[in-house]
Amino acid sequence: MTLALVGLGVSTSQTVAIGPAYRLERGPMPTAPRLIAPDEVMAEIARLEEALAASQGALRAVRRQISRASGSPLSLAEFIDSHLLILEDAALVEPARDLIRDQLFSAEWALRQHRDDLARVFDEMDDPYLRSRRDDIDQVIHHILGFLTAGDQTSQEPESEISGCVIVAHDISPADTLLLRHRGAVALVTEHGGPLSHTAILARSLNIPAVMGVRHATRYLRPGETLVVDGEAGTVLAGADYHILNHYRQRLVALSARRNRLRRLVHEPCQTRDGQPVELLANLELPDDAQLARANGAAGVGLYRTEFLYMNRTGQPNEEEHLAAYRQAIRGLGGIPITIRTLDLGADKQVDGALGANCPPACNPALGLRAIRLCLKDPELFRPQLRAILRASAEGPVRLMLPMLTNLGEVEATLSLLAQARRDLTQEGRPFDPEMPIGGMIEIPAAALCADAFARRLDFLSIGTNDLIQYTLATDRIDDTVNYLYDPLHPAVLRLLRMIIAAGRRQHKPVAMCGEMAGDRRFTRLLLGLGLRQFSMQPGSLLEIKELILEADAARLAIQVEDLYNRLDTEPAEELLAALNHPA
Ligand code: PEP
Ligand code: MG
Repeated sequence: MTLALVGLGVSTSQTVAIGPAYRLERGPMPTAPRLIAPDEVMAEIARLEEALAASQGALRAVRRQISRASGSPLSLAEFIDSHLLILEDAALVEPARDLIRDQLFSAEWALRQHRDDLARVFDEMDDPYLRSRRDDIDQVIHHILGFLTAGDQTSQEPESEISGCVIVAHDISPADTLLLRHRGAVALVTEHGGPLSHTAILARSLNIPAVMGVRHATRYLRPGETLVVDGEAGTVLAGADYHILNHYRQRLVALSARRNRLRRLVHEPCQTRDGQPVELLANLELPDDAQLARANGAAGVGLYRTEFLYMNRTGQPNEEEHLAAYRQAIRGLGGIPITIRTLDLGADKQVDGALGANCPPACNPALGLRAIRLCLKDPELFRPQLRAILRASAEGPVRLMLPMLTNLGEVEATLSLLAQARRDLTQEGRPFDPEMPIGGMIEIPAAALCADAFARRLDFLSIGTNDLIQYTLATDRIDDTVNYLYDPLHPAVLRLLRMIIAAGRRQHKPVAMCGEMAGDRRFTRLLLGLGLRQFSMQPGSLLEIKELILEADAARLAIQVEDLYNRLDTEPAEELLAALNHPA
């Protein structure tokens, strides 16, 4: 007989998997209190602190592994960082320590009590996104409990037993998700969590099918039995008969055919059905990502973020260190152009050590001394990077891009620093490309409104929608409490996008987009209709977007998008977009 369990499907592209169940035993929440004697208090607190330190150590190890793993999206690191932040927050264990001292609770029971108190606070929140953050607290506390009871189970699971299996667990942390994927797990089934949890977001980015919130999964699903996981429908089937298994095997074949079809698009010229050429570019976080960009057919790199050079260190990188990183990326790209963005530190991109002193804490860090503002205030910080980018331009097609431009004065100041750097390099007999294009990111509404002026003075523009949306809607892009306002379809955002693209056309300067909107399938037809012809995104999205571009009729989309804009004030943008994407 087939047993069907239902939960929340959280997968998008890779949705189905079949494999034997593997029960991941996590540190169980204690269900009954255990009290200690008064003279055991100090030892019990020490036990809690050791488990906390071990849990932090294990997460940091995963974090290091992510930074080294080629092609790992940077967001993976952010997931782990968010759990590390929770672990490092005194508010997490301080109350548990008090419970041990005042109530003579065991460390496990104290943690459990504190977790229940926190859970109650989260449960009372109205916002589903905020409520889902309770899962993060749960996972972190489970992780510590794991060390209190039996050490870290996940890292002890033998690889041979996990490979090819569907992991069934009470809950899985983002760090465990990453480790399990590395060890060959094919799907995840958890009793807790939902589509907004970090684990779900991570599972999507790792292409691992997952169904979450499956009540009693660990009780009903037996280790070793074959499971069919449908991460789209949110179902888990055990004991499926031949017909059902056959159906899902065919779905797997269809999915793999889709991946192969997409892979075949790698060498297709990228143009719309009516012959409009479109450039698909990659965003690089690390020099190693260059291979991934090429494998997915990128025509170039539209955004090479250079902040990684300043992270996890105490001093500033020197010119040679900059140059080595740029060289590595240029060589990995095999001749396709690379757009190197100058330092964009501050606000959401903080650093440790000496550099941190350049970015003093501000009341409004997103509006403070960051990115190009910071560089222009401290030419000693900026000069080595400008010189290194110029020197790199002698080794391949390089473009330089300035982040967070507010006014033309910043462009002029940078151009004069560049002119000086060129004179110095010439005197030193170091080669560079005198024609290296200089572009700027449009990510502040003021710059969007003056896009013509920027386009006249620069060689190209690139729209940074992540920040443009944040600044247009006055909504901190990393603050979960106002995340519901972060809306790419807000009419104000849509109007600014149209203005920037039109300004580029008027000034005969290319306009790219390198924010997340460019790699999101929902917006491809809209952006094509607006006239965008350069899309830059994480390499894993390139072929999905290319498929849409090849099917699109740009001339027709231009008319439809014009109509969409005419109706923006009277009809919901989501509905207008749905009609554009799925014409009746
Ligand atoms: C952006 O703001 O859209 C962008 C691409 O830059 P970052 O995400 O690095 O701020
Ligand atoms: Mg930005």
